[in-house]
Amino acid sequence: LVSRENKGKNTIIQVNGVNIGEEKIIIAGPCAVESEQQMDTVASFLKDNKVNILRGGAYKPRTSPYAFQGLKEEGLIILNKIGKKYNMPIVSEAVSLASLELVANYCDMIQIGARNMTNYELLKALGNYKKPILLKRGMAATIEEFLTAAEYIITSGNENVVLCERGIRTFETYTRNTLDLTCVAIIKELSHLPIIADPSHGTGRWELVKPMAKASLACGADGIMIEVHPDPYKALSDGEQSLNFTSFKTLMEEINPLLK
Ligand code: PEP
Ligand code: MN
Repeated sequence: LVSRENKGKNTIIQVNGVNIGEEKIIIAGPCAVESEQQMDTVASFLKDNKVNILRGGAYKPRTSPYAFQGLKEEGLIILNKIGKKYNMPIVSEAVSLASLELVANYCDMIQIGARNMTNYELLKALGNYKKPILLKRGMAATIEEFLTAAEYIITSGNENVVLCERGIRTFETYTRNTLDLTCVAIIKELSHLPIIADPSHGTGRWELVKPMAKASLACGADGIMIEVHPDPYKALSDGEQSLNFTSFKTLMEEINPLLK
C-alpha cells in the first residue's frame, strides 16, 4: 500500500490546514513541554517565523530512567492550549496504548518515535484513530523495515502517514546519529507517502542542524522538524541539539529559497 507502484501520485496529508506533501513544511518546538510559560514563549516566536506545526513531547522515551520523563497529560493540556492560542496545529508523541488515547484526544497529529517504530501493537492501534501519524524511523531500521512499519499503520485503517528520517546508529561517534538522507531520496522513489527529516535528532548537535536542514530540503524532503528552545542550556531534554531563537531565525532565512 505504501509503494509508488500501487499509487503513482504523491499523497498529501492534511493536518488542520497544513498540506504535507504539497508545500514544504516546518515542524518546530522544544523536545519536551516543560511549562506553559516555556510553550507560550516558544510558540509566539515560532508563529512569527512561519512555522506550520508546533511540536512538544509530553511522554519522553528517555535513554536514562533518571532523566526527565515528560509532563504527561499536563504537558498535552499545555500544548493544546498554546496551539489554540496561536492557531497552530500540534504534534506530540505517544509511547503506549494508554498515552495514544490521550495524545489522539489533545493533538492534531500523533507522533510514533524511533523507539516504537517496531511496536506493532501500537502501530495496529493507530487504525482506531483518524488523526494523521508522524512515523519516525527506528534507529536501527532498514528502509524496508521503515516502510513496512508504515504498511502496518495503513493496513490497520489509518492511511494518513508522514514518514520522518531521524538518523540511524552507525560507527560514527562524533554525532548522536547519522542522518541518512539517502533514505529520503530512496523513499521519494519507492513510496507516495510524504517524508520529512529531523536534523536535530539526526545529528544531536545544534551547530549541524542548519546545514543538514538545508541538505534535507535539497534532496527532496517534504519538510523538516527542528527542536527549538528559548534557552537550550536550561532545557530539560536535548538542549545540545536545540536551536535558540537567534539560530532558528537565521535557519529560516537561509532555507527560504528551498521551501518552494
Ligand atoms: C522526538 O522527536 O522527540 C524524539 C524522541 O525523537 P526520536 O523518536 O526520533 O528519538
Ligand atoms: Mn528530542
